[in-house]
Amino acid sequence: MFEFEKGSIKFIRGGKYPHCHTVFVDDERRAFIDASSHKDVLTAIDSERQVDILIASHGHEDHTMYNALFPRAQFWVHEQDAPVFLDVENLVDCYAPETEAQRAQWKELIEKVSLYEPRKPDRLLRDGEVLDFGNTHCRVIHTPGHTPGHCAFHFLEDKVLYLGDLDLTQAGPYYGDVNGSLNDIIESLNRIATIEVETYLTAHGEGIFDGDPSYVTRYLGIIEEREERLIDFLSGGAKSLEEITEQGIIYGPPRVVAGFWDLSLSEKAMMKKHLERLKEQGRVVVDNGFFLLAG
Ligand SMILES: [Zn+2]
Repeated sequence: MFEFEKGSIKFIRGGKYPHCHTVFVDDERRAFIDASSHKDVLTAIDSERQVDILIASHGHEDHTMYNALFPRAQFWVHEQDAPVFLDVENLVDCYAPETEAQRAQWKELIEKVSLYEPRKPDRLLRDGEVLDFGNTHCRVIHTPGHTPGHCAFHFLEDKVLYLGDLDLTQAGPYYGDVNGSLNDIIESLNRIATIEVETYLTAHGEGIFDGDPSYVTRYLGIIEEREERLIDFLSGGAKSLEEITEQGIIYGPPRVVAGFWDLSLSEKAMMKKHLERLKEQGRVVVDNGFFLLAG
């Protein structure tokens, strides 16, 4: 049932979107972090002995899919992501729908595929606080960038660090939401790399890694490689955002991820973040809607 077990920390592997992996804290107070893995496994654990706490690493719909099955549990999230759990419209806003039709599609995907149900958090998590599960203690590490309230969870006794969607995959970090931040995610990953642990766990992909910080620095390096490819493309002359998106610097040619959502939407949103950052640094200028290298 568990692919990884250390002390009270147990790991339940989930499938692709809208699923993710779950961390199960099996202590005096039992908790699921990101209850989107396996309905049957999660409910079996709860019927054996009640799960007291649901934690969402951040406010994305693929991390709370089965929360509604545990109405008696408390729900804990970081304060900066709390609004998206109160109203589906707040979550849709994060994805910047450009038309009413797109807004409706997002809403349908979130509600029908990811089984979104609004839920008021019972506790708002803060950076640095230590959560007490009995014998297990966990420090909340606020790691914004993917979302403003994204958190990692450092299990102090078991030397395990759950990284949520800082998932160490080959695909690289995601920071395309309206309130996603390239500067913040770089800072968060640098901070993560300084925390000494024996094991990293993540919400997607491989999921289980030795606590070797080179996994984090390699993941961080993907951001730099994207930026270099963008600069290289712009060195060929001024380009529109559409041309830059079509280049597929991050994800290659568009492919559908779920429902209507193809990766060119993510590509465009993330390229915008890189262009903003390069503009701030004075390395790129905009002329008549076209982006070109400065100087
Ligand atoms: Zn996410």
